[in-house]
Amino acid sequence: MRIANVLGRSALIVDGQAVDVEEASEGQFGSNMSRIYERWPDFRRWAEQLNATSGTPIDPSQLGPPSPAPRQVFAVGLNYRDHTTESGFEQPDSPVICAKFPSCIAGPEGELGLPSENVDWEIELVAVIGTEARRVPVSAAWDHVAGLTVGQDYSERRIQHAGPVPQFSLGKSFPGFGATGPYLVTPDEFDDPDDLVLQCTLNGEQVQKGRTSAMIFSLPELISRISAVCPLLPGDLIFSGTPDGVGMARVPPRFLREGDVVVSHIEGIGALRNVCRAAEE
Ligand code: ZN
Repeated sequence: MRIANVLGRSALIVDGQAVDVEEASEGQFGSNMSRIYERWPDFRRWAEQLNATSGTPIDPSQLGPPSPAPRQVFAVGLNYRDHTTESGFEQPDSPVICAKFPSCIAGPEGELGLPSENVDWEIELVAVIGTEARRVPVSAAWDHVAGLTVGQDYSERRIQHAGPVPQFSLGKSFPGFGATGPYLVTPDEFDDPDDLVLQCTLNGEQVQKGRTSAMIFSLPELISRISAVCPLLPGDLIFSGTPDGVGMARVPPRFLREGDVVVSHIEGIGALRNVCRAAEE
């Protein structure tokens, strides 16, 4: 099952077309995407028995974030071996977790305002939580995931590395720095949801390519570790880390410039497309 946020309304994607959830459910489920996650098991049951025959064509520019108002957004640093090496760190023996503050969450298309000349790209698989998870074992973690989507963990490297200790959360939280979409895809749609190809291109040039099976801490492991501390709530997001190929690690470093086009793609989900613009004062 695929769902999307179309012009701010929840929609099921059927044969590439959008079926409005509020209309098709005759008001049983509302138009607000965030509310869908509050009733995720009920929603799934309803959606699976729906026999929708017609929808409306999808214009990618109308798509918003699949979870538009998450209460918590976690991000994982150094979760791929080659990225850890290129960043100059030892391999972590426990997950490196920070926050992306929810005001940074954006949809799959549109302009990215660059607040400086130090903004980097990080393609990431993002999990959206469907049912509350408290201290869940690894074996039960997938049961709490509503679905997967594509994420870009845009990162302002100067702020991230300013001060005596890194400021990961602040450097990753400018408006638009949490691009997500284009769809939420339920885990059953994938042959193996733990092994997906993810890649990022910059102006058509491939800058990152990896497989999610190469994560040091798998998504179920991350859910188990995070939920041991913070209860994961419906609609929450987990950005699960990026493979190697970020701009900071290049010689010389390469950062985003006005006019650059960043396309972030994950197998079986789709792509995000952002055009970079100088941020307004
Ligand atoms: Zn990241």
